[in-house]
Amino acid sequence: MSSDYTKILLEEHEMPTRWYNIVPDLPEPPPPPLHPGTLQPATAEDFAALFPKALIEQEMSAERYIDIPEAVLDVYRLWRPSPLFRARRLEKLLDTPAKIFYKYEGVSPAGSHKPNTAVPQVWYNAQEGIRKLTTETGAGQWGSSLAFACAQFGLECEIWQVAASYRAKPYRRTMMEIWGGKVHPSPSTVTEFGRSLLAQDPDHPGSLGIAISEAVSEALKHPDTRYALGSVLNHVLLHQTVIGEEALLQLKKVGETPDVLVGCTGGGSNFGGLAFPFLREKLAGRMNPVIRCVEPTACPTLTKGQYRYDFGDTEGLTPLMKMHTLGARFIPEPIHAGGLRYHGMAPLVSHVYQLGLVEAIAIPQTECFTRAIQFARSEGIVPAPEPTHAIAAAVREALACRESGESKVILTALCGHGHLDLASYDKFLHGGMQDLELSDEALAEAMRHVPEIA
Ligand SMILES: *Cc1c(COP(=O)(O)O)cnc(C)c1O
Repeated sequence: MSSDYTKILLEEHEMPTRWYNIVPDLPEPPPPPLHPGTLQPATAEDFAALFPKALIEQEMSAERYIDIPEAVLDVYRLWRPSPLFRARRLEKLLDTPAKIFYKYEGVSPAGSHKPNTAVPQVWYNAQEGIRKLTTETGAGQWGSSLAFACAQFGLECEIWQVAASYRAKPYRRTMMEIWGGKVHPSPSTVTEFGRSLLAQDPDHPGSLGIAISEAVSEALKHPDTRYALGSVLNHVLLHQTVIGEEALLQLKKVGETPDVLVGCTGGGSNFGGLAFPFLREKLAGRMNPVIRCVEPTACPTLTKGQYRYDFGDTEGLTPLMKMHTLGARFIPEPIHAGGLRYHGMAPLVSHVYQLGLVEAIAIPQTECFTRAIQFARSEGIVPAPEPTHAIAAAVREALACRESGESKVILTALCGHGHLDLASYDKFLHGGMQDLELSDEALAEAMRHVPEIA
């Protein structure tokens, strides 16, 4: 490849055909999920009403590689392999000797990385005769990805969208409806839990934890219905490793290895997807990048949360997972990166953070939007609010290189575009966007309800 490349592409036939499971390569196995009643490790049975067998197997798998089914590869080919860009124009704007690379996942139909897992999740459900999937969504990225995937394989899709986003972001609801999804604001009148919350507050803003409770309880009611989760779980991170596997091949084409890898973390799936193949290389001694999670200061799960067993949802319907958590009842401030407003973190990301294999930082949203505007004006793409955190962290690194004169190779994921998040940009440009911090009192209050488990 010539040295003045801007984007590094792979041919369709170069697309990875296996997902990577990091579990067998970790120095210690991650703590298992627990059944909330017995506090014993959850069994495949405990998940059977929620997920199809094939996904439960992946959730518990110790196999290093899992073949991607041909039918899934076939849908992936609509947008994969995705491009890896060298951010030359941003480098120039920052006057940095660093090389910045970003893997762009906004080329998928839904505009983010989420279809990478929505497609296989729907396919495995379809194989086991499931007719309908329920799920939650915040800003609508996951709901629209699942609705798209359900349309590919002929399943029904019912989605509980956090009420605050349902009202503030109508266009992604329209996307879900275009792909055949049925959308409820959450809390909704459909479930008992939803009705109880609406009785307390008819204008309840909702949260991801509440929406998960509603989607799970509906799936539990019907034998031909299962639930799908867009982040956090091992099988979701597994599917997302196509991002990192492609990026490895792409960097190899131009003879580069990353010194620093940064990624935004909501539930941890785009981060895990990009980082885990590189962590494999690092653990094997083939490269040595610093790997760093980036989260919002308003929802600082890794940097301020506690590492302990907690529920994935607010009502307490899921198995208990050992993860960094702000408490399942925590309702984060309405920051613009809706996808980063989750109280917990993927158990696998929490585990590698606990082991010291990755770092974490929190960045306030106005810094993120400032960098996103610089990014859009130089690179052209308008980032989704979530990866503005990754961009801000990459820029911090690049500016440090300007000071030190080092020409580090920085890698990140631009995991979605922001075309349906323009209201957030409008707020930043014209509306006086504020930085929101999580107070110690609010954190202590939310943590009070987390189960005490040794
Ligand atoms: C959902 C979403 C996120 C947050 O989820 P992760 O599992 O942490 O990746 C981040 N960015 C975008 C664009 C999203 O849609």
